[in-house]
Amino acid sequence: MLDFNLNLDDEPTAGAQPRPEVENVIIIGSGPAGWSAAIYTARADLRPLLITGNELGGQIALTTEVENFPGFDEAIQGPELVERMQRQAERFGTEVLIDYVTELDVTGPTFIVKTASGSEFRARSVIVATGASPRRMEVPNEERLTGRGVSYCATCDGFFFRGKEVVVVGGGDSALQEALFLTKFASKVRIIHRRDSLRAGATLQHRAREVPKIEFIWNSVVTSVNGEAKVESVAVQDVNTGASRDLAADGVFVYIGHLPNNQLFEGKLAMDDQGYLVTDKLMRTSVPGIFAAGEIQDHRFKQAATSAGQGVAAAMECEKYLAELV
Ligand code: NAP
Repeated sequence: MLDFNLNLDDEPTAGAQPRPEVENVIIIGSGPAGWSAAIYTARADLRPLLITGNELGGQIALTTEVENFPGFDEAIQGPELVERMQRQAERFGTEVLIDYVTELDVTGPTFIVKTASGSEFRARSVIVATGASPRRMEVPNEERLTGRGVSYCATCDGFFFRGKEVVVVGGGDSALQEALFLTKFASKVRIIHRRDSLRAGATLQHRAREVPKIEFIWNSVVTSVNGEAKVESVAVQDVNTGASRDLAADGVFVYIGHLPNNQLFEGKLAMDDQGYLVTDKLMRTSVPGIFAAGEIQDHRFKQAATSAGQGVAAAMECEKYLAELV
């Protein structure tokens, strides 16, 4: 097994000891759901193995200020919150593997997890916390100009737009929060929303409406991104009149929701019509021994705090399941 263990402090972790032939529990994903499941299963002496996925920390690691996670009364930066969760999980003996799960065999009696680096693990139980990824607009040139002005992460790329004009697409909390962040750099931030009222919560709405650099373009959708080597403009269509125009922009930040990261589970675990894993109140999926928590199974609440709570519940039920196995 490759040793990708990320120790953020000096305390010994389970990584220092050989892994068992069959893991008690493998946690897939490193967002709030994965880390809280790791903290609880580690404290239950289950020596969890957490496989991070390609995006360590998931969506919350890509956000700036997190103001609504209980316990951080003065807000905390997303990446720092993730780092603290990881430290807490490792402190109790979670082994962290930076790798990407490519295959999950759910036929049992033990589950088989294969990773991109070629590792193969067996486990008595699995907690799925693979989260969700940004939804694309699916318009011409969006993919080609990604990284050349099209971005899904203002935290990562906002800095490159100092003194420039950008558009933000979407009308939810993410769009407004990241639009506010972008005003630190950009000279103008235009929020393009497909309706005439916002989905975002009242606090963010009030803040965004008060910032002179932010302009709202209502009832409009982006129909293409334009530019050769980099973004130069977007084509915007009014959904009521059908009229189109080009809007000059150096950057396009897309915040139109998320899609569940479910590719591993197709045909193996029950999903709803939107592709989210179906779980019951005890976070059980359709296969006994496989639990799911966070945005892979939640399209309603989608908060870091609710994902963390679901991770706790999944861990507690997983512990119970394992106790009843023997
Ligand atoms: P969201 O709430 O699902 O909002 C997505 C936005 O994109 C909506 O305004 C939607 O329009 C629009 N949209 C969807 N598909 C579109 C398309 N094909 N073309 C154009 N526009 C499209 O997603 P989110 O803003 O990423 O938030 C996800 C979750 O995280 C939410 O529960 C949110 O509360 C939470 N969150 C919270 C905070 C915070 O509290 N500070 C910050 C970030 C995220 P419609 O409104 O017309 O449907």
